Amino acid sequence: MYINERQTGGEYELLVTASDPEAGYRGVIAVHSTRLGPAVGGARLWRYASEEEAVTDALRLARGMTYKNALAGLALGGGKSVIIGDGRTADRERIFRAHGRFVESLGGRYITAEDVGTSPADMEIVRRETNHVAGLLDRSGDPSPVTARGVFRAVQASARARWGTDDLAGRRVALQGCGHVGYFLARELRAAGAELIVADTDEERVGRVVEECGAERVAPEEIYFVEADVFAPCALGGVLNDRTIPALRVEVVAGAANNQLLEARHGAALEAAGILYAPDYVANAGGIINGCIELLGWERGRARRQVEEIYDTLLRVFEIARRDGVPTSEAADRLAEERLREGIKKQ
Ligand code: NAD
Repeated sequence: MYINERQTGGEYELLVTASDPEAGYRGVIAVHSTRLGPAVGGARLWRYASEEEAVTDALRLARGMTYKNALAGLALGGGKSVIIGDGRTADRERIFRAHGRFVESLGGRYITAEDVGTSPADMEIVRRETNHVAGLLDRSGDPSPVTARGVFRAVQASARARWGTDDLAGRRVALQGCGHVGYFLARELRAAGAELIVADTDEERVGRVVEECGAERVAPEEIYFVEADVFAPCALGGVLNDRTIPALRVEVVAGAANNQLLEARHGAALEAAGILYAPDYVANAGGIINGCIELLGWERGRARRQVEEIYDTLLRVFEIARRDGVPTSEAADRLAEERLREGIKKQ
């Protein structure tokens, strides 16, 4: 395996690329910060057009992980790896063993995990080459119900900030995506007395939420036009953009999907439209908090308690947004930077 360290010019601690022609492996690991703890972030397998494109993605995602972990109050840093390849044709055994050797070469500064294009089964392969891997089968368990609980707390905090009460009884929530997180979120919301309008491209998944939660269904494209109190994106990234924001008829956006804003400026666009936005990486931190059961040896109860605190973190984000006159997405970054400067109490 050929490993090559590259210079990044300051903000990042480490950028390494590797190739193992025999295994058909090409990968990139970016470590943004280990200031709060070892850098944790998933391994993405994607058909990148070039190594430069892969490097850019790894750098961007690694930085995002630093902010997400810091904001969730975790003693973890931020990193990310990307593997250049085609998930449909890749020889997974060879590729993920090579990935494991690459991760091992960094001696624990970076801990890999599953992400887009990779699975817990792939991480079991990685495990044969390194201990610096998380997200294995049967360790911390399915993160989705925990993530959903965190998003529910984010909806409550947004309700408190917008309407002066956490009470969601009678509030209408338009939920996009009834998958792993969306399903559990629907149940939490229903139990709190909210009315649900749901959409999913998968018939079976949407049908289950309609049946179990008494939800009303709309076609996937219609979900942006539903008149409701809250829009909860729990499917894809980039759904808050120039086309959808003018269509939204809600007062709050809070959901699980990663990278909901198509571009950073859409945070300001939501604000201008009078919509309170719960930044995605604050709302969906339950997944990584759940991972601390495995990463930091936490008890399950401790993870549950930390997820409840997403409520408090978000209220603080809203406060900073008001204080500094910035969109909530920008305020979240400011709070993360504050926590990075101050450090995290020993965990
Ligand atoms: P999932 O794949 O189980 O669910 C996504 C659902 O969205 C699927 O049911 C899919 O059919 C549906 N969908 C796809 N395109 C759609 C469209 N155009 N309109 C409506 N529905 C559509 O994924 P998940 O694990 O539930 O995660 C949902 C989102 O939350 C993702 O963006 C994920 O990155 C993010 N997230 C998940 C976790 C977690 O713990 N699972 C943690 C953090 C963030």
